[in-house]
Amino acid sequence: MQYDVIVVGGSFAGLSAALQAVRARRKVLVIDGGQPRNRFAEHSHGFLGHDGRAPQAILDDARRQFAAYPTAGLATCLATDARATDDGFEIALDGGSSVSGSRLVLATGVHDTLPQIPGLQEQWGKTVAHCPYCHGYEFGGGAIGVLAQDAMSTHKALLVADWGTVMLFGNGAFMPDDEQMSLLQKRGVGFEPTALSKVQGSDGELTVTLADGTTRALKGMFVASQTAMTNPIAEQLGCAFEDGMFGPVVKVDDRQQTSVKGVYAAGDMARSMHSVALAVAGGAMAGVGAHQSLIFG
Ligand SMILES: Cc1cc2nc3c(=O)[nH]c(=O)nc-3n(C[C@H](O)[C@H](O)[C@H](O)COP(=O)(O)OP(=O)(O)OC[C@H]3O[C@@H](n4cnc5c(N)ncnc54)[C@H](O)[C@@H]3O)c2cc1C
Repeated sequence: MQYDVIVVGGSFAGLSAALQAVRARRKVLVIDGGQPRNRFAEHSHGFLGHDGRAPQAILDDARRQFAAYPTAGLATCLATDARATDDGFEIALDGGSSVSGSRLVLATGVHDTLPQIPGLQEQWGKTVAHCPYCHGYEFGGGAIGVLAQDAMSTHKALLVADWGTVMLFGNGAFMPDDEQMSLLQKRGVGFEPTALSKVQGSDGELTVTLADGTTRALKGMFVASQTAMTNPIAEQLGCAFEDGMFGPVVKVDDRQQTSVKGVYAAGDMARSMHSVALAVAGGAMAGVGAHQSLIFG
């Protein structure tokens, strides 16, 4: 069967794109590996109407609603390769079969790499997070850490001061200059230069142990992860990339079309600021863009 639209990645951005296209009575296939980026968090915050729900519960509802349309198809597997054909695109699946579609929406998210500090990965999505708008309120009112990784860390510490009492950890690698230090002081942000040797968390508390053996008790800590594509499909298709704040992102126009005609991209892989709401918005635009291009080219 030739699908009108194939969506690779069936999480917040992908299902949002798929919903627009399937409601236009088009044949839409969603291929999804079932590993959304926020799977480490018990609750998702800041998405209108779903604040505080489990991420998987939001996705389960979205999948069920999409699957109820007669022209909807869902494949729970991984897309491994993609290539352009005369009629559109062919996607190889990990079981050995392949599917074809006239338009392609890529919504496969990003992969996070955290600094190598023992305990950090285990606390990811619990007491260690990347986004104050997602988790700041829950950490708020107490002591909050910000791990310095680059020049943006001062900016983040200044911002996070709205959510609690902030300590910027230089981790033995970052030292604010005089101007930055004065800005931090004005916002009541403390600075700890010593390297972190480990972090441990339980019951909403995070204990940071420094290289000199002293400890700091926090409600949580913000850490900027380095992001990368979860798979090489956008690259295989020849999509252009640009530098994002945390890693490369696929370049898209205002209708979410990539540099390759007929290939759309949305969600974390196609923008620097990451949230469920923004992924859903980008996905909706990609779905509309892909659908309209079937008619108007
Ligand atoms: C720990 C943590 C907590 C977060 N908490 C919040 C929060 O509270 N509120 C909020 O708004 N945002 C939160 N976020 C951000 C949010 O998770 C992302 O912005 C959002 O998931 C992006 O949606 P997406 O659809 O672009 O990608 P994802 O949700 O990451 O989904 C990508 C999908 O593509 C699939 N996929 C990947 N490769 C393939 C392939 N080759 N073939 C088939 N499928 C594939 C994956 O399995 C996955 O299902 C959090 C992020 C993290 C890391």
